[in-house]
Amino acid sequence: MNPGIPPTPQAGKMVTPEKVAARLRGEKRVLAITHEAPDGDALGCISAFLLMADRLGLDSRAYVPGFAAFPDEYLFLPRVDGVLRGAPPEVDQETTVYMLDCASLMRSNGHQLAEGAVRVNIDHHQDNPAYGEFNLLDSAAPSTTAILYAVFRAGGFPMDVDIATALYVGLVTDTGRFQYSNTTAEAHRMAAELQNEGVDVNAVYREVYESTPLAKLMLLERALCHLEIRLGGALVVSWLGPDDFAKTGAHEGQAEGIIDTLRRIQGVRVAALIKERSGPEHADCKVSLRSTDGSVNVALMAGKLGGGGHVRAAGFNCEASVGWLMDWVENEVRASP
Ligand code: AMP
Ligand code: MN
Ligand code: MN
Repeated sequence: MNPGIPPTPQAGKMVTPEKVAARLRGEKRVLAITHEAPDGDALGCISAFLLMADRLGLDSRAYVPGFAAFPDEYLFLPRVDGVLRGAPPEVDQETTVYMLDCASLMRSNGHQLAEGAVRVNIDHHQDNPAYGEFNLLDSAAPSTTAILYAVFRAGGFPMDVDIATALYVGLVTDTGRFQYSNTTAEAHRMAAELQNEGVDVNAVYREVYESTPLAKLMLLERALCHLEIRLGGALVVSWLGPDDFAKTGAHEGQAEGIIDTLRRIQGVRVAALIKERSGPEHADCKVSLRSTDGSVNVALMAGKLGGGGHVRAAGFNCEASVGWLMDWVENEVRASP
C-alpha cells in the first residue's frame, strides 16, 4: 500500500439534481475541480460550471492538479485559460468545492483540501466511491456534462450558447462522437437541445477534431512505430517515452486520442498505451487501457494497480518499467474470461 494514500472516506449523502441546483443558487463562493490530465468532459465541465457561476453571480474559481498543458483542442472553451494549477488552492469556510468528473479524490488532489471543506461530487464513473459530503452520481450518464446539464435544467438556470457549447464538448468527446456504447437516446436528445441553444456542431468539430497540431500527429507516428501486437492480435500495446515528446516537440496532453487509433485495429480486444513520464513532478508511467467490445473489463484491470475508470476505458499510474507493464497487461488480458 502506498503510504501517501489516505483511507477511503466514508460514502457521503446522495443528492438529486434539484438539490444540487438549490445549493448552487444559494452559494457565495465556489471552487470547481476536475481530474489531472483533463479530457473534453473534464474541461467542458469546468468551462460550463464557471460560465454558469458567472450568470448566477457567484464568486468562482477552478483548479486542475499538475502543471502539464491542457490538450490544445479544448483551449477554445471560455474560462479554461484561468484555471489554477499546481498545489490545491486555499479554501475558506464560505467556499463549496464542486468535484466534476473526478472518480477519485487522489486524481484530483481533493484529499489535500483544507479540513472541513464541503465537496459536492458530480460524476458518471461507475467506480466513484461517493467521497463527497454530497454526491450526485449517475453511471448511466454519457458524460459528466450531461449530469451538469440536468442540474442546470433542474434549477431553471439561464443557458446561453457558450454554456451549451461547453456541455456539448463533454458529451461529444466522452461518447466518441456519439458512437461508443454509452451513446443513449438521451445523449442524442441532449445534443439536439444544446443545438437548439445555438451550438455550432461543425465549429466544435473543427476545433476539437480538425485542428490537430502537427507535433501531435508526429507523436502518433512514434506510437505506431513502437506498436506491438500480442495474444494473436487480441492485444495491441504501445508506449511513448520522454524522447518521443522531445523529438516531436509534443507535450503530454497531445497524447490524448492516440489510444483511439490503436484500438481501431482489426481484431483487437484491448488496447494499451504507456506514457513514460520523467521529471520533477512525475517519474512514473501513465497507462491508458481500452476494451473494444467490453469483453475485458479494463476498469477491473486498472483497479489492481490503483487506477480505475469505466469497463471500456480505464487507466492507472505506476512506477514500473515500460517492459514490465507491457507484460503485465498481456498477462491480465490472457487471464480474462
Ligand atoms: P485515459 O486513458 O487517461 O483517457 O482515462 C480513461 C479513463 O480511465 C477515464 O475515465 C479516467 O477517469 C480513468 N483513469 C485514467 N487514469 C486513472 C487513474 N490513474 N486512476 C483512476 N482512474 C483513471
Ligand atoms: Mn474525464
Ligand atoms: Mn467523463
